[in-house]
Amino acid sequence: MNRRSSRPEEQDLTLDPAFSQSKTIRVAIAGNPNSGKTSLFNALTGGHHHIGNYPGVTVEKKSAITKYRGLKIEFIDLPGTYSLTAYSLEEVVARNYLLKETPDIIVDVIDSTNLERNLYLLLQFQEMGVPVVGALNMTDEAEAQAIEIDHAQLGKILGIPFVKTVGRTGRGKLDLLRVIGQVASGEISSNVRHLNYGRELETEHDKIIEVLKSDETFVAKYPSHWMAIKLLEEDDDAFLKIKKEHHNADDVLAAAKSSREWIAGHFGEDSPTVVGEQRYAYIRGALRETVAIGRVKKRFDLTEKIDAVILNRYLGVLVFFGIMFGIYQLTFALGNPLADLINAGTGQLGNFISAVMPEGMLRDLLVDGIIGGVGGVLMFFPIVVLLFMGLSFLEDVGYMARAAFVMDKFFHIFGMHGRSFIPFMVSTGCAVPGVMSARTLVNPKDRVITVLVAPIMVCGAKTPVIAMLAAAFFPQNAGLIFWSVWLFGWLLAFVVGWLLRKTMFRGESSPFVMELPPYRLPTPRGVFTHMWERSWMYVRKAGTIILAISIIIWFLLYFPKPKEYTRDYDTHLAQIEQSFAPRVKVASGGTKDDLIAQRDKQLAEVKNQRAAEELNYSVAGRVGQALEPVFRPAGFDWKINIALFAGFAAKEVIIATMAIVYGVGGDENGNGLTGLLAADPHYNPAMALALMVFVLVYAPCMAVQAVIRRELGGWKWSAFSIGYTIFLAWFLAVAVYQTTKLFGLG
Ligand code: GDP
Ligand code: MG
Repeated sequence: MNRRSSRPEEQDLTLDPAFSQSKTIRVAIAGNPNSGKTSLFNALTGGHHHIGNYPGVTVEKKSAITKYRGLKIEFIDLPGTYSLTAYSLEEVVARNYLLKETPDIIVDVIDSTNLERNLYLLLQFQEMGVPVVGALNMTDEAEAQAIEIDHAQLGKILGIPFVKTVGRTGRGKLDLLRVIGQVASGEISSNVRHLNYGRELETEHDKIIEVLKSDETFVAKYPSHWMAIKLLEEDDDAFLKIKKEHHNADDVLAAAKSSREWIAGHFGEDSPTVVGEQRYAYIRGALRETVAIGRVKKRFDLTEKIDAVILNRYLGVLVFFGIMFGIYQLTFALGNPLADLINAGTGQLGNFISAVMPEGMLRDLLVDGIIGGVGGVLMFFPIVVLLFMGLSFLEDVGYMARAAFVMDKFFHIFGMHGRSFIPFMVSTGCAVPGVMSARTLVNPKDRVITVLVAPIMVCGAKTPVIAMLAAAFFPQNAGLIFWSVWLFGWLLAFVVGWLLRKTMFRGESSPFVMELPPYRLPTPRGVFTHMWERSWMYVRKAGTIILAISIIIWFLLYFPKPKEYTRDYDTHLAQIEQSFAPRVKVASGGTKDDLIAQRDKQLAEVKNQRAAEELNYSVAGRVGQALEPVFRPAGFDWKINIALFAGFAAKEVIIATMAIVYGVGGDENGNGLTGLLAADPHYNPAMALALMVFVLVYAPCMAVQAVIRRELGGWKWSAFSIGYTIFLAWFLAVAVYQTTKLFGLG
């Protein structure tokens, strides 16, 4: 018996065998943030996905292939967006993907409890000319709220098929696969019947299309209907594409401009607003005919009760900082023992390699440079993972949107825009996407301020440095200290933002509306995936950039070797050997062991002195010493100066460099970096605090500088951000060191 046809659900689909074997169908999963895209993606693909990056941006790109009745379907999980207007990084990524890679089908994941807003995006997908399948997700919640959707009717009106789904449980996923198969095979059409914008707009839009058509290659590349609408919407990215790629750019732009002016004159409102209003009017019309909202019994509304506290204007701010405090405490309580474990592991590995490899430069490079440098950074992996897990949980549970809401008022006090919260919060992971997400700020002044101060936040790369110092000098209160530095970062960003507003960027910032999603219990898998995606970046960075820089730093610390030493170490070492040799020879048992230990200790001391002299002579050593007068008031010595200098590239490098300095400097007793720092007589808690503050504030790393340059258009802003942060960091570090010393911490 044929096994395939024995399954009843498989009989209703007839696929042309030639078609089903011919190719992979590429399906992009798109939609509003929090509509359940990732949940649905996981349900469809079983979670075994491939993670890469979108070309040119550090946003994760997830894809996976699912086999469905002989069809190969590749799903791509796109970042969530509310529209395709290219304001935020997510929008740019999603939209460029759709334009450049042109998937065969877009599955638009729609939150059924918020149809009006979600369908706005759907219309924009339709305009791009790619077949769309609508996944009416959150069907369970819609049912609970007695929202009845006639999905067949809605499909008829909009001209695309709809399927009801529940991302968390996978309900409806087979229906969805079936419809995808049918659309791909042409069995049902998802014809792109775009909405009618009304006679006036359509006339103007047709005029623009006429001019667009003068460049055939351009029209073949970008859907002209879409392009015309974008020009009416004053879309920056569309302008750019025209300027760069259209033969008759000037004519097109002139036509678009005159159309926009005509529309503004006719409707008494600017053209982008008119376009948006037309879309909403169309959606409302469609919904009136397809959605019925029944009566729900007024139940005990937990969301409202919780929100009463969390969204309270004063309490809410405290709750936010309190929640973060809890997360940092937990992170350190659980993460530190694990970090120690990894540290012990890399130490063992180093010892093992030292034992099996012959002495020489290669061994030093491997043990001190690579294992020391990269291992020092990897040691903090558990802490980073736990931290990201906490943040993912807050995001998935629906708290982050509320935090943004509460902090909005706080931001206003300091003359900043409420939307700056998002770049700030994203920067606590990494300032690269943080700075990019400042695109959501439409007002250029708001944007520049945010871009300049957001990199002050504690980020994933500063985390290990601050964590290490906290663990070394404040072992009892590591979590508290870390949280304090984190809090200090926020406050400082506010103060600096306020100063910039009062001096260089005078003006008022505009208020904003934030949508509050309902609370949802996250699925463990959802939190885990989010956490893993972010943590993986950390590991990958350690294995690439940090590895490369560690090797360079090692070379700079290893060369050049002095031609002449202040003392004749070789002779000295030989003398020690000789003086012990006769006694060791005659001694036996315990005495002999004692003698050997004594001898080795003396030998190690001399070797350490020689290593120190070599370090001093090396390129990096000289740089560190040259900087000593500048940083002495902050309590830093030349070793720290080297690390800070290297940290310009990336902040994790500070740890790697310290580990290499100590490794090259001849420490062989495996105390781990934390132990070594705590034991170094030159260092004390006052210096540690000053160093934490310095690392927090000074110079955004190279990746962030590049993004600042790109986002604000020009090296001037990136130079300004480096300059002011170094100055501020130095000033604060000196202030912290000198005052804490007064209180006896030195
Ligand atoms: P994304 O931002 O679009 O990728 O959304 P996620 O997949 O991360 O989902 C956001 C939240 O909604 C998570 O807490 C999910 O567990 C939850 N969620 C996803 N789909 C559904 C659904 O169909 N019903 C309900 N009740 N919750 C869902
Ligand atoms: Mg997602």
